[in-house]
Parts: sequence; C-alpha cells; structure tokens
Amino acid sequence: MRCKIWVQIHGLPGDCRGEEAVKEVVCHIGKFIALKKLNKIILDRYKRVRMEINVKNPLMRGRFIRKKDKRYWVDFIYERIKFACAYCGKITHKSKSCDQFVEGVS
Ligand SMILES: [Zn+2]
Repeated sequence: MRCKIWVQIHGLPGDCRGEEAVKEVVCHIGKFIALKKLNKIILDRYKRVRMEINVKNPLMRGRFIRKKDKRYWVDFIYERIKFACAYCGKITHKSKSCDQFVEGVS
C-alpha cells in the first residue's frame, strides 16, 4: 500500500539544502517525487518534499546525517498523518492493535 504525502525536513545544515542533498537525506523514507519551492523565509526553516511512501513500513522520525565530521539530527514531519503507532511507527494501525505491543511491559 503506497501513498503520497508531504514531508517536512527540519534541522538541515546550511550546506545540505540543495535538491540533490535533500534527495539523499530522504532516500530511506520512500520515493522522492518533488521538492516544493518555498518562499525565502520558510526556506530557511525547513524543506518540504513530496514523497511516495509504503505505509506498511514504519515512519522514520528522523536520521543523522554526517557532514564534515559533524553529525546532525534531521527531523521528518509527516503532514496530515494523524497517528503513527507508538510501538513500531506504522500508520496502518493504532498502538493497541500492534503486534509489537506487549501488555504489562514498560
Ligand atoms: Zn505498531
């Protein structure tokens, strides 16, 4: 099951904001469709990317990228996705019906 969504990418270092760099950052989320052109002010805060994802896979909350011996944490925010399972990160079910949900374990 695949769906097309907008993903916001927050926390990119200044020199990773070109289209090729952004594609590389999101390559593990799913299939890159387009990078949204934003006005200058928003552009400085985050990137917005159209992606096709397989909803059976867990959503990535973010990832580390390495740039000149520094590590940066980059957050992925999925627009219009109301919930993701707290246990496995998938959006196809809620936490209580998750097969990774183990009652009584904290
Ligand atoms: Zn789950």
